[in-house]
Amino acid sequence: MAYDPDNIFAKILRGEIPNDTVHEDEHALAFRDIHPVRPVHVLVIPRGAYVDVGDFAVRATADEIAGFWRAVAAAAEKAGVAGGGYRLIANTGANGGQEVPHFHVHIVGGGRVGPMVSPRPDRN
Ligand code: 5GP
Repeated sequence: MAYDPDNIFAKILRGEIPNDTVHEDEHALAFRDIHPVRPVHVLVIPRGAYVDVGDFAVRATADEIAGFWRAVAAAAEKAGVAGGGYRLIANTGANGGQEVPHFHVHIVGGGRVGPMVSPRPDRN
């Protein structure tokens, strides 16, 4: 899938849409999700234009990849969840439920997060 420069996160990176920043550096931006699913819900995105984790893994430089994961850890610290623990989620593609086609990791925490996934939808 080609990168869509008009996706919401691209607009946030360009400053066209405001965000509640938790952490930022040369490689990544971390900001609070507009619809939090837990008391702490932060999104971390690379500054580069990557659709998903596969695209990021193939095209990003080693510096970008290292910088991104350091930013994830820094954002968890700044959001106050690093000590107690949290969950990282990277929804990928249609089956993964990815809504925004710019690679991102969700940091969710602020208390027990709960079961890893809900019961299989085809068995409900
Ligand atoms: P995905 O389903 O793609 O993994 O997650 C996209 C996330 O982006 C959702 O949790 C959604 O609430 C969040 N989101 C969508 N639009 C905006 C926005 O304009 N600002 C912020 N802060 N979060 C957004």
